[in-house]
Amino acid sequence: MIQINQYDIEMLKNINEQRAWEIFPVFLDHNPDLCVCRSCVLDVMAITLNSLPPCYHSEEHNMSAARNKVSDEEIYRKMKEAYLIVKERPRHD
Ligand SMILES: [Zn+2]
Repeated sequence: MIQINQYDIEMLKNINEQRAWEIFPVFLDHNPDLCVCRSCVLDVMAITLNSLPPCYHSEEHNMSAARNKVSDEEIYRKMKEAYLIVKERPRHD
């Protein structure tokens, strides 16, 4: 039985998740009517990330390779779709 703790599992990162969080402030600038409560922001990001393919890396990553698979524009477009869903049916109180 291997000890999973011996591996640096914290090193595994989804590049597309990191990219989505980088794009989010730009998205907010262009969509100032988006509710920025915790519930709405996390829902937008969850829907966005579920609609994007994951792109995990374990060490130094090649960002341009990730961009060749999914463009920044595509991430932005998915975020816009997620925003419209959340705007239609917000779960905040
Ligand atoms: Zn909200």
